[in-house]
Amino acid sequence: MSKENVHILLADNNRPDIDIIKSALSNHDDIKYNIDTALSGTDTLKKATDNKFDLVLVTQDLPGMNGLEMLKEITERKLGMPVILIVAEGSEKLGVKAMDKGAYDYLTREEIKTVALSRAVRRAIQRKKLEDDIRESVAKLEKMAIRDGLTGLYNHHHFREVLRNEYKKAKRHLQPLSCIMMDLDHFKSVNDTCGHQFGDFVLAKSAEILKRLVRDTDFVARYGGEEFFVILPNTNLQGAFILAERIRYAFENNVFKKGEFSKTVTISLGISSTLDNDVISDDSLIENADKALYRAKWRGRNNVCTFDETEVEEAAGVREEIKKIEDFTNRLRGFNDNIKETYIESANKISLELNKGWDYFSEHSSRVSRYAGKLTKELLLSDEEVNVMKRAALLHDLGMIGINSKILKKKSKLTDEEYNLIKRHSNIGVKIIERTKLFYEELPIILHHHERYDGSGYPHKLKGDNIPYGARILAVVEAYDAMTTGTVYRKAGSREETVSELKTCSGKQFDPHIVDVFVKMLEKAD
Ligand code: GH3
Ligand code: MG
Ligand code: MG
Repeated sequence: MSKENVHILLADNNRPDIDIIKSALSNHDDIKYNIDTALSGTDTLKKATDNKFDLVLVTQDLPGMNGLEMLKEITERKLGMPVILIVAEGSEKLGVKAMDKGAYDYLTREEIKTVALSRAVRRAIQRKKLEDDIRESVAKLEKMAIRDGLTGLYNHHHFREVLRNEYKKAKRHLQPLSCIMMDLDHFKSVNDTCGHQFGDFVLAKSAEILKRLVRDTDFVARYGGEEFFVILPNTNLQGAFILAERIRYAFENNVFKKGEFSKTVTISLGISSTLDNDVISDDSLIENADKALYRAKWRGRNNVCTFDETEVEEAAGVREEIKKIEDFTNRLRGFNDNIKETYIESANKISLELNKGWDYFSEHSSRVSRYAGKLTKELLLSDEEVNVMKRAALLHDLGMIGINSKILKKKSKLTDEEYNLIKRHSNIGVKIIERTKLFYEELPIILHHHERYDGSGYPHKLKGDNIPYGARILAVVEAYDAMTTGTVYRKAGSREETVSELKTCSGKQFDPHIVDVFVKMLEKAD
């Protein structure tokens, strides 16, 4: 029987122990252990990154980086290697801690001289194999699954298969096949104003509406995020159009209701058919439906458009018209940004005049805006989203002008009643800004910037991902600024103290991922 090969990285600089381990792992009937050694932290990391080991045996007293730190690096870099920690006699507590942090096992220096060593090594390798098998099976199952978990509709993978088959069938039997591609309108703002959970609810309910409206012989799939696709065998354009209109109408007249939220969400639909010109494959059906959907969006959303209409319009020279209108919209967008800037500047000036206690908030808002811009970029959001964040940060405390200036200027601790009055500033800010109709995207960020990740904030006690992402970003940078500069109520803390406070509140008051990225951003700036 051929022996199984197992590659071990032994990270230790204690020569006698290295020899003991090597000799204990030699001469096994079923396994050939190939042992590579590393004498320092850097050496270990380099070897573990460059090679694929089945196991890393690392001592706690490794020079350059102790065993626990090495375990953390291996885990964070997702190297996928089991780790066994070797600790000094009497330091078993460290071993237990390592297991809590993901080590497969630990051994004391005494134990490595006994049979416990090869037993622990075997167990770790077997466990790793089992885990790999499970992971592989889950991946296979996921691939085999045909339904989307959230909506119960066919998933994208299965949809492609069905379309391929139906296309072939339609060709063979000379029957028409039509498709409807649809996309919920302004769905991003549904998530932003009511939270992701409500967004998910809307998606699941939308699937129910679609299933209710189609025939048993039709196929409904979730094409992507908030996009759906219906395959209509043996259906001509007219039939597809009637169904599409029925779907559009059903969405327009429906209210999605859950908890405190209720919202109407419209839908845009694009139709393609095998009867259109130049359809040469199932891919053409998708491309054409996509093009028609794009046109339905362009017409103002809540609209149905067929691919052949886009063809006719283009032939009639609409292409140039579309281009002109797009140019116009793009230029107007730049102009809009200028109006927003002017509004913010004027709002700031007027608030300074109205409220002498405003100076702090005005300076605070500019600093917060700078941090918010940088952090949003660091979180890899788009330039437009960076601008939205900066503007929301500049406006986030505008509602303070509706708070009595005696409270704003008060030097001593606020009473509960006074604090409750201060809390109104998010709502007041939104009420003032809403009137301009200019800051649609900024409003949910301003309204919710005092929500807390654990659901204990205000004004709506939103929790976790239900808090708009921008509001979670603003919460972190605004707290950081308030803590480092100090307010009338509290002394300025050092940067280290503030970072440590943010970390303590991570997962409770703040979104942990955002805190992580922000702290790394501050460290990078050093
Ligand atoms: P348009 O009218 O142009 O389609 O605007 P839109 O906001 O719907 O378009 P966009 O494609 O920019 O945004 C789609 C949003 O859908 C962004 C994404 O966060 C959200 N989304 C995608 N998948 C899911 C999901 O599974 N759950 C939730 N809640 N949101 C999702
Ligand atoms: Mg959409
Ligand atoms: Mg979309």
